[in-house]
Amino acid sequence: MSATKETLGFQAEVKQLLQLMIHSLYSNKDIFLRELISNASDAADKLRFEGLSDSALYETDPDLKIRIAFDREARTLTISDNGIGMSRQEVIEHIGTIAKSGTREFFSQLSGDQKKDAALIGQFGVGFYSAFIVADRVTLTTRRAGLTSEHGVRWESEGAGDYTLETVDKPGRGTEIELHLREGEDEFHSDYKIN
Ligand code: ADP
Repeated sequence: MSATKETLGFQAEVKQLLQLMIHSLYSNKDIFLRELISNASDAADKLRFEGLSDSALYETDPDLKIRIAFDREARTLTISDNGIGMSRQEVIEHIGTIAKSGTREFFSQLSGDQKKDAALIGQFGVGFYSAFIVADRVTLTTRRAGLTSEHGVRWESEGAGDYTLETVDKPGRGTEIELHLREGEDEFHSDYKIN
């Protein structure tokens, strides 16, 4: 495993999906939070499941939590969980290069109606990329439960053609997703909007 930062390209269909998120779904901004919280909740469920046969996966941190934090100055919104996390290979497979099998079908079902198209996002499991509706840069830092802290992985992208991948130290297991908010998306900095 290399600690150097590598740049990898998105598959054409992922690029198309990202363009859609950025340009067509801006009137459905709220969906990104639902998608990211739902992923965090799935990650907790996966840990609970795998933990049934391997309780060591809980490490010294048995309380499963999801946290949402704002940094007004930095214009960031951070969603973190201490669920199952991802290995480097899992990051590449799940949120990296390759669009899932449903992506083509997803495109064929788009109607141009933003409400209907937004509902399709949840249905086709393209949820993570919805972060780019509000963010111009997304940094995901994760560590798979059971791996040691130096096996953390940082994925970062501006939602254009590529992303970077880097090995980092991450003491706490699970996934942290930092959204650097686009200009004009400050409403997500207020508790009012989140609640
Ligand atoms: P879906 O959740 O429908 O599979 P997403 O694009 O939202 O689609 O996520 C793709 C995959 O990335 C998930 O299936 C999961 O394997 C992984 N993933 C996303 N977020 C997390 C997270 N917070 N913790 C662990 N794995 C995650």
